[in-house]
Amino acid sequence: MALIDELNTLLGFERVRGHPLDLEVFSKDAGMTRGDVIAATLPETVQEVAAIVRIARRHGVSIVPRGAGTGLAGGAVPVEPGLLVVLTRLNEIHAVDEIGRTAWVGPGVINLDLSKHLESLDLHFAPDPSSQQACTIGGNVGTNAGGPHCLADGTTVAHVLAVEVVTAVG
Ligand SMILES: Cc1cc2nc3c(=O)[nH]c(=O)nc-3n(C[C@H](O)[C@H](O)[C@H](O)COP(=O)(O)OP(=O)(O)OC[C@H]3O[C@@H](n4cnc5c(N)ncnc54)[C@H](O)[C@@H]3O)c2cc1C
Repeated sequence: MALIDELNTLLGFERVRGHPLDLEVFSKDAGMTRGDVIAATLPETVQEVAAIVRIARRHGVSIVPRGAGTGLAGGAVPVEPGLLVVLTRLNEIHAVDEIGRTAWVGPGVINLDLSKHLESLDLHFAPDPSSQQACTIGGNVGTNAGGPHCLADGTTVAHVLAVEVVTAVG
């Protein structure tokens, strides 16, 4: 089966974006570089992410993860024809441990949403890039993002205890 057909079977048409207008939007982040996107996929579970990686690998196509696309360095932009794995729909705050001051979250959770969620507990997620109303925790990890709070508390790397990773073999 062709690459796009396989992805459509896995995710459905609505979550495999290949319209020229979609590709125009997804071929850039907030930086200047424009890339070459074959299609943008919108998984909703870790299992779907792994399945996308396996399909891309079988077809010899590279993949690039993408959060909110606020990056300024072109990290979410494929430099050769590639498949985007957009993680914004994995946006669940799974668990908060108030005593341990930890949260287990999906990579698509918007940075500021986590702090808003924790407000009633008098806690916040310290890394506060100026893009925090839009950028995702996954993107923050990918770029080791920082902001004013990080001068005292350290950048994102100082606030990550564990990550669940989909490897290159899916
Ligand atoms: C107005 C503005 C202000 C900004 N201010 C700051 C600032 O103060 N401090 C700062 O550090 N940055 C800042 N940035 C840059 C940017 O917002 C950060 O780098 C942010 O962390 C990117 O998050 P994102 O969700 O948009 O990631 P994206 O831009 O989508 O991706 C960034 C990188 O992370 C990778 N990635 C994303 N999600 C995942 C995932 N789930 N798994 C693996 N890799 C992943 C991508 O492949 C890419 O390499 C700013 C940007 C803008 C536009």
